[in-house]
Amino acid sequence: MNTDARITNLSQPLLIVDDDRATRMLLRGVLSRQGFEIIEAANGEQAVTLFNQYRPLLVLLDVMMPVMDGFTACAEMRLIDQNEGTPLIMLTGADDLKAIDKAFSVGATDFITKPINWTLLTQRVRYALRSGQLSREVRQSRLRQTSACRIAKLAFWEWRLTDDSLHWSDDLEAVLGVSAQSIGHVADFLAVVHSDDRARAQRLMNLARQSTGSIEMELRMHTGQQDRLVRFVGERGVQGGDHALMFGAFQDVTALRHTEALVDYLALHDELTDLPNRRLLLRQIGEMLPKINTENGDVLLVGWIDISRFHRHNEALGEALGDLLLTRLAQRLRRLIFDTDAVARTGGDEFAVMFRATNMTIALDRFESVLSHLRRPFHIAQNDTILTFTSGVALFPEHATNANQLLLLAQDAQRLAQSQARALLVATPNTPSNSRFTETLAVERALHTALERQEFFLVYQPQMDLRTGNIIGAESLLRWQHPTWGLIPPSRFIPLLESLGLISEVGQWVLEDACRQARRWEQLGLALRVGINLSPRQFLEPNLFNKIQHAVTSSNVNPAHIELEITESLAMQDPTSAIQLLKRLRDTGLKIALDDFGIGHSSLEYLLRFPIDAIKIDRAFVTNITHVQADRVIVRAVTAIGQTMGLSVIAEGVETLRQCDFIEALGVTEIQGYLIGKPMEPIQIEALIANFVRPGAETHSH
Ligand code: C2E
Ligand code: CA
Ligand code: CA
Repeated sequence: MNTDARITNLSQPLLIVDDDRATRMLLRGVLSRQGFEIIEAANGEQAVTLFNQYRPLLVLLDVMMPVMDGFTACAEMRLIDQNEGTPLIMLTGADDLKAIDKAFSVGATDFITKPINWTLLTQRVRYALRSGQLSREVRQSRLRQTSACRIAKLAFWEWRLTDDSLHWSDDLEAVLGVSAQSIGHVADFLAVVHSDDRARAQRLMNLARQSTGSIEMELRMHTGQQDRLVRFVGERGVQGGDHALMFGAFQDVTALRHTEALVDYLALHDELTDLPNRRLLLRQIGEMLPKINTENGDVLLVGWIDISRFHRHNEALGEALGDLLLTRLAQRLRRLIFDTDAVARTGGDEFAVMFRATNMTIALDRFESVLSHLRRPFHIAQNDTILTFTSGVALFPEHATNANQLLLLAQDAQRLAQSQARALLVATPNTPSNSRFTETLAVERALHTALERQEFFLVYQPQMDLRTGNIIGAESLLRWQHPTWGLIPPSRFIPLLESLGLISEVGQWVLEDACRQARRWEQLGLALRVGINLSPRQFLEPNLFNKIQHAVTSSNVNPAHIELEITESLAMQDPTSAIQLLKRLRDTGLKIALDDFGIGHSSLEYLLRFPIDAIKIDRAFVTNITHVQADRVIVRAVTAIGQTMGLSVIAEGVETLRQCDFIEALGVTEIQGYLIGKPMEPIQIEALIANFVRPGAETHSH
């Protein structure tokens, strides 16, 4: 992407350097007729100055000149040019072999003999420009690759199975901090592997050698002062025919795993009280269920606790002390609940607990006792605050058999208690959760006919380029308008479409409709890139390629205006075939974006392998960007890699100017979010573009 911009930049001139004014005029006359911009210098020193200033596409340069001769000037320009490979052509005397020799030795790319053969001149110049471009592209992509490797802390290894010798790429020292000689043999290598990991490493290596022919392992290694976590992947060299060789890559994932652990922690804990959140609680309940011995009559209790009229306390105390009150409550709960049990903050003023007991009565007694401890005063700001609660309880195996249902039942029981002004209710088989269940059935039935009844429609959410401040794209988002239930959000029905097997049909309609819309915008002269979400299930369909092709060709849209959004998890299911499919799609000119990036797997190495054009950073990272440093670190790492690989990086869910400032400072190129606009009808997109002023720009311009 970057290289293209550089190459096609025709505003860059050619530089002609000769002390003879007549030669310069002739050269300018011939070359400017070919459409080139020309600048001139009369000696070497001037040439170097102009070179520095204009970075010409090519230099034609005489040998003999006053002030500074051509050789010196050539050498200096080559130095300034560094890795760019700009063609420097010297004008030498026809039989002056020495001069020709010297020209090459100071970095010239070619020579043209004087007197100049004018008919050949333009050919030579064109040829030099083309080969200059080629070598520049090669060099750029190599540079990009090495810096991508450096950023990813990635390097390569080779293992000769015949003598167990190991060979490492030059980056070994930079990545691991050890020299190649010191681990030139498998035994040396195992010696620096952490003793707890050594046996596993050996087993996996033996396995790779004897049967599997491939290896994938993460090992702790002590090289230098501090332990590192290193990931190795590799394969036996079959393609080249060399069976006696394993080769592959390794990557220092210490920092990555560290941030992952941190992100995991943040994603599973409440920021204020540091208690587990609902997600973690669900996981903990799920892990506990199989351990309950129901035959003995053991039970698991899930209790939902809601503070009555918490907002009153919050107003009376002020927000800071209100937060303190919640923190104290959390501390008290934590002390009341043993280690093997769980407690979580499930909402602003809502908490949940889980514990096991040997029968139902004991469980309920214990829950009552927890509540009575919570009713004791909290001493805050010289005052005693007394809280009251409503709560609900669900029991396993009595009421439900999975974590999610248990928690929902407990929550429903609490809601029911609240509506009946009671302190505590235990779930019964007909608390509202059952109506939830029947509701789902009705929704499922309605979904079967929604498509033919034309109840689906697409809305579009605008995307802005931070570098230009222009709206450059829009993501299509599916909506369902039910005649009596009204508008239903995708989070409620897309999972159902998937489980009912209806997603491919509806997904196809989305593809066709979004392509038609993109085409309509093209015809209005709006070159908008339209994003289309592909669901994991859709991605598994065998003829997805043809279906996409059909949508694109029948709408007549320029494929470059369509961006398919895929998620990591989707691509990870079968990476090899995913890569193939994405390659084919991209070959037809379509764009590919990796959606919801950051919340899934450790995706760095996949990122390097997947043929994509853009990364969409998940809203979860943007939301906290202004105050969670770990999120900033991740966003920065993604943009750095995006930059070196020439990808655009889109941040989702940008709601405030302040988030936008952070995002922009971290190197993100595009944003999408309520700050620019909510998902809207196509006609509103057109109106938005017509009157668009970049948010924040109004205040600067006055
Ligand atoms: P997504 O692809 O991550 O889409 C972005 C979601 O974030 C949209 O929710 C959008 O309305 C919301 N959003 C955008 N900016 C902001 C913001 O500044 N703040 C907040 N709080 N939210 C923001 P929506 O439309 O409800 O879509 C939810 C999800 O449903 C999508 O997440 C996508 O995974 C799925 N989906 C939507 N349309 C389709 C579709 O046509 N096909 C498939 N397969 N999935 C779709
Ligand atoms: Ca999306
Ligand atoms: Ca997304």
